[in-house]
Amino acid sequence: MQSHFVELVKDFRFEAAHWLPNVPEGHKCRRMHGHSFRGEVAVRGEIDPRTGWLIDFADLRRAVDPIVHQLDHYCLNEIEGLENPTAEMVAVWIWKKLAPQVPGLARVTIEETCTSRCHYFGDGTNGTDGTDGTDG
Ligand SMILES: [Zn+2]
Repeated sequence: MQSHFVELVKDFRFEAAHWLPNVPEGHKCRRMHGHSFRGEVAVRGEIDPRTGWLIDFADLRRAVDPIVHQLDHYCLNEIEGLENPTAEMVAVWIWKKLAPQVPGLARVTIEETCTSRCHYFGDGTNGTDGTDGTDG
């Protein structure tokens, strides 16, 4: 039986302020500033031969929206787990919240500016198993 492997992507946006506490004194990112963040979540897997889709985009939206709302119009440094809110750490933070709800989660992307983005691919467990607890 032929299988079809696909990647579905959902975009999101949020506005937030941040500053980076661990960069050297005088670095511009150490000053409080804001971004119109853009992001993507990607899910990978086989097309279900009966439904003709991998998952319902609306289900993905329902999982992503409440997480993005926790970031929108906040100072990211004040959010638990985002004390050093680089694009990388924001991607990891979103992944951790999303992975238990979204089987097949393959990538979280955070774009700080039009030319700068970070792709995060998880910790190697492919986002499908939050039960083994092997990550420190
Ligand atoms: Zn910044």
